[in-house]
Amino acid sequence: MLLGCIADDFTGATDLANMLVRGGMRTVQTIGVPAVPLAQEVDAVVVALKSRTIAAREAVEQSLAALGWLRQGGCQQIYFKYCSTFDSTPKGNIGPVSEALMEALGTDFTIACPAFPEAGRTICRGYLFVGDVLLSESGMKDHPLTPMTDANLVRVLQAQTLRKVGLIRYDAVAHGAAALRGRIEALRRDGVAIAVVDALSDQDLLLIAQGCEDLPLLTAGSGVGLGIALNHRRAGRLTHAATAAALPRVPGYAAVLSGSCSVATNGQVAHWRQSKPALRIDPLRLAAGQAVAEEALNWAQARLDAGPVLIYATANPREVQAVQNELGAERAGHLVEQALAQIAEGLVQAGVRNLVIAGGETAGAVVGALGIRALRIGRQIDPGVPWTQSIDDEPIALALKSGNFGSPDFFVKALAQLEP
Ligand code: ADP
Repeated sequence: MLLGCIADDFTGATDLANMLVRGGMRTVQTIGVPAVPLAQEVDAVVVALKSRTIAAREAVEQSLAALGWLRQGGCQQIYFKYCSTFDSTPKGNIGPVSEALMEALGTDFTIACPAFPEAGRTICRGYLFVGDVLLSESGMKDHPLTPMTDANLVRVLQAQTLRKVGLIRYDAVAHGAAALRGRIEALRRDGVAIAVVDALSDQDLLLIAQGCEDLPLLTAGSGVGLGIALNHRRAGRLTHAATAAALPRVPGYAAVLSGSCSVATNGQVAHWRQSKPALRIDPLRLAAGQAVAEEALNWAQARLDAGPVLIYATANPREVQAVQNELGAERAGHLVEQALAQIAEGLVQAGVRNLVIAGGETAGAVVGALGIRALRIGRQIDPGVPWTQSIDDEPIALALKSGNFGSPDFFVKALAQLEP
């Protein structure tokens, strides 16, 4: 194992894993810290935690447990992955976790680079931009859990750590990997422990990865991941790069489950319904205790022989509001997630082995119900969403799509990729 990654949430982990596979690394994503060593031979592992907004002490504890497991696997470099909008509070958890990992690895320097130019996240003079506006002027200023009201990442990070935070300006990045290394040495001499790094383009991220090749620890969004993979490729260490994204076909039926109500998902459901069988789940009937899941399974079983089916709770904002007024947002969400998870279990029992799941929370509920602990990451379907395969005696192919990801024909496109 060349690279060990610790991600502070599930879909962020998939995003990074997808990036590493694109760069030619055979990659597995685990859900939490596994109890046993990995049986597969891979180049990188991403441990998905749910540590973004929990208490800093707990986030540190979980991250150190992940580090311990990754080091047992023999990995040479550690990558702490957080969101490209640097989602955190003044108490953490990016600062405390970075600090604890540095301590455990015995290193006195790391970088912090959430930049992801592909998605409009760039850093200049330490200020993070989302598209054309500062982070603090973007939608992130109103985030319910991690409102980001300061775009200056040096200041944001310094508030979370006792170690000295510095800046590697664009000037050093633009001059290439050697200049970057020189700047790192100068900052180190000045006692800087964590340096925020400016980055405006994918090319910058590749240079940053190259300049940081020898650091035992990197902290970043998913963007730097591609460069890290290319470092290993350049050094001739990725002998399976050509087949890193290849997953064996899983024979069995296919189905789509959707619990996301985002704009993109509403469009994807509408697109599917134009030509393929779909069944809608009514949260109010669930709340009334009716046998909605059983009905859905009977409906699906009668159709699976003829091709894939969609079962969805997806609704437009007006409909969601009406349901939430009746049941409360939390209860409605929970009921739908549980029902879709139960349907997923039933579908797998009925022989479904290829599943597309729409919705971040929905995907979490389904993966949990199916008892999946680790996923091998395959080919990208749309940016940020790869096919994956559970690592089990009886593997299941899963495409886990959160919120606003994917083109209107995403469901059809994903399933078409399974055809020989
Ligand atoms: P996304 O990735 O788009 O945010 P999630 O699955 O994370 O999707 O979140 C959507 C939430 O909305 C889930 O908790 C889901 O159970 C809930 N939900 C789905 N359909 C409905 C509906 N018709 N009414 C109310 N809540 C719903």
